[in-house]
Amino acid sequence: MQPQRSSKRLSKAKEPNPTEKQQEEKKETRMNAAKEPLRNDARLNLKALCISGSCRSLVSNLYVTPGSEDFISCLRWHSNNFTSISQLIFTTANSSFLPVWQAGVNNARFNQPETPKPSVIVTPVNESQVRNALLCTKKHGYEIRIRSGGHDFEGLSSTADVPFVMIDFINMRSIDVDVVNSTVWVQAGAALGEVYYTISQKTDTLYFPAGLCPTVGIGGYLGGGGYGNLLRKYGLGADNVVDVRFMDVNGDILDRSSMGEELFWAIRGGGASSFGIVLAWKLRLVPVPELVTVFVVNKTLEEGATEIFHKFQTVMPNIDRNLHIRIQWFGENVGNTTKKTIKMAFEGIYQGTSDTLIPLLEENFPELNVTQEISISKLSIKGKSDYIRAPISIEGLKKIWEKILENDGSATFQINPFGGIMNEYSETTIPYPHRAGVLFQLFKMVNFGDQPSYTTPTSLARRDWLQRFEAFLEPYVSSNPREAYFNYIDLDLGVGSDNYEEASVWGERYWKSDNFKKLIRIKARVDPDNFFRHPQSIPIFSTSLSDM
Ligand SMILES: Cc1cc2nc3c(=O)[nH]c(=O)nc-3n(C[C@H](O)[C@H](O)[C@H](O)COP(=O)(O)OP(=O)(O)OC[C@H]3O[C@@H](n4cnc5c(N)ncnc54)[C@H](O)[C@@H]3O)c2cc1C
Repeated sequence: MQPQRSSKRLSKAKEPNPTEKQQEEKKETRMNAAKEPLRNDARLNLKALCISGSCRSLVSNLYVTPGSEDFISCLRWHSNNFTSISQLIFTTANSSFLPVWQAGVNNARFNQPETPKPSVIVTPVNESQVRNALLCTKKHGYEIRIRSGGHDFEGLSSTADVPFVMIDFINMRSIDVDVVNSTVWVQAGAALGEVYYTISQKTDTLYFPAGLCPTVGIGGYLGGGGYGNLLRKYGLGADNVVDVRFMDVNGDILDRSSMGEELFWAIRGGGASSFGIVLAWKLRLVPVPELVTVFVVNKTLEEGATEIFHKFQTVMPNIDRNLHIRIQWFGENVGNTTKKTIKMAFEGIYQGTSDTLIPLLEENFPELNVTQEISISKLSIKGKSDYIRAPISIEGLKKIWEKILENDGSATFQINPFGGIMNEYSETTIPYPHRAGVLFQLFKMVNFGDQPSYTTPTSLARRDWLQRFEAFLEPYVSSNPREAYFNYIDLDLGVGSDNYEEASVWGERYWKSDNFKKLIRIKARVDPDNFFRHPQSIPIFSTSLSDM
């Protein structure tokens, strides 16, 4: 495929003229001469963040730590009003630095004293401040990390082993619903729960088909694909993105038409942070009934859970698309005894009322009884994903239960059924390739919530257990490649990126060969110096793919 070069720009960063450059140099000299950290008395007032029961309000002063003056003075030079931008910048000497950083670290595994922190955090309120932060980050040789909801499974939005500037979208969360055209523009910092809530304030019959966790950010979620409980009816979140505002490595703002279809393809599932910065997504809303029905049914092995699950593997991918049943597996004791069992929670959501749900369940799963429940929690976790394409036999399931029962109770497992409309998408429609033929996605994680850190002997033993379980599962899951979900990013899969052979070890698992190669070609075109990088970003090679 020929690379497309976009000529149309929505807006362009201003180039410095000689007089401005002199002024900047003067400012930098002044800053460097300062023996004490510079104090700016402007107060910062970040919007209180109230999600999932935790409310935070952040107020502080700006101090400039030695080492970050170059970056700050660059921002000062780029900004029309430095007083206002200074209220949105945090350095390590600033009393709010740690709370601001911690507020968005949504996996407590990376909220540790020893976790490397940014040199500077910028919390822009508008696109031109994002551009200034990007250009100054580049100019002064920092790496960049972009944070929306902060849920990255490897902490890649909040930490890095090199000096970096973090752009945190906490102040860019506006949501603009257009009920007439069934669309919504969402700025990159909005959380899924905020999107659902804002839509529900405008309409009871439109919805955006995304994930269950309300604090996951729209910025990261759609960049990796994004599944949810309407997956079987409306596909992935990324299948329902219709436009974008996107900042490239030069600070230019592109939309779908100016970036061209190739880059628009890449950022919906290929990991947007390899290519640039998403400022806002335009999403298609889908029709939903005013009333939906939810249920949770728990079954243990003694209550026939193995047989129900065995049947689930083949029935669910073909059942009415209005029904989604997620399953969680837990190892636990039988009553007050020491005997261990597997408990399965069947968590269903149905786009309709119980009048039609109950006959549907009676026909397909007469074994289930219905109650109602919803739960949400903040975790310290390490997770791994798989896709299952052939039903696991009863014998295979029993071996899996045995392995799970060897775990100390820190592991949980989530099963999301596929099929439905997912079978109608080609695996190259967007970079996310796990489509036709997938029966279900299996996500496993171990929790370190009861441990002071994820490096205690117990935590390390849990990580080790997860690795061994991963190896044990190999005969039961997809192969060539063994597929994995990029949004459940896992650095254990490998971080080699010097050549295609090295990178394919992890890249083909997330995207398969054709999509991964296409992402590499697009990356070489839009970010040839590999400015947007992290340990599993789309790589740049010294030789082009066609020469290999
Ligand atoms: C509790 C929990 C529940 C989850 N549930 C689901 C689910 O139901 N369905 C599902 O598909 N996934 C789910 N996930 C996975 C989730 O989609 C990914 O972790 C996702 O990357 C999180 O996005 P974020 O914005 O919250 O995280 P962040 O850590 O902010 O970002 C994740 C990645 O995206 C990049 N990024 C963030 N914002 C931007 C931007 N504006 N421009 C460019 N790049 C950006 C970051 O740099 C980072 O590389 C869940 C994760 C957790 C922890």
